[in-house]
Amino acid sequence: MDQRRHVGDQERKRLLDPLTRVYNRAALNDRLEHEFRLWKKYQRPFCLAVIDIDHFKQVNQQFGYEVGDKALKIVARTIYQCLRDTDFIARFGGEEFVILLPDANDDTRTEILANISHTIRKLPLKFKNERVAITVSIGATLFSGQDTPTPVLERADQALYQAKNSGRNQIIWC
Ligand code: GH3
Ligand code: MG
Ligand code: MG
Repeated sequence: MDQRRHVGDQERKRLLDPLTRVYNRAALNDRLEHEFRLWKKYQRPFCLAVIDIDHFKQVNQQFGYEVGDKALKIVARTIYQCLRDTDFIARFGGEEFVILLPDANDDTRTEILANISHTIRKLPLKFKNERVAITVSIGATLFSGQDTPTPVLERADQALYQAKNSGRNQIIWC
């Protein structure tokens, strides 16, 4: 039993981001490969989205790193709470998250992404009575044709880049 619990802890360490307690990039790679295989087999609409906090450097500069860290945790939890049980979130790096929405029809995926964007924008974050305003940009795409995970991630990243360039605080599909 003890040995098994130890393995469990090790595995958790390998797969979880210590700051936000959501999955890390290693876990994303595992899960993405798995969901990709399911998509190949069943061909249910599979959406991948990259979510990046807007002007996060300024949040750190204005309010300090501790507030930045707290904001990161809250944003991660907020995204997680907007997802279905079968969806997945990982911290991809810095202030960037990747979500996987398998078997998500048009209405479902649109609603989930809009809800994430809206809920984060409305977060009642405060520092010394000053409001800390957080918005996110989202790049989203669907697996299609001969897609594999790498080009899909790159496409979502390009959509994110477009969202940033068109003024941030928005969702772009690609
Ligand atoms: P953009 O809207 O273009 O995304 O601007 P940005 O400032 O969010 O993006 P940029 O890539 O220039 O900066 C990301 C910042 O995120 C820089 C870094 O200080 C901050 N950051 C990354 N990881 C952490 C972290 O773990 N904690 C805190 N507090 N800040 C972090
Ligand atoms: Mg950013
Ligand atoms: Mg970034």
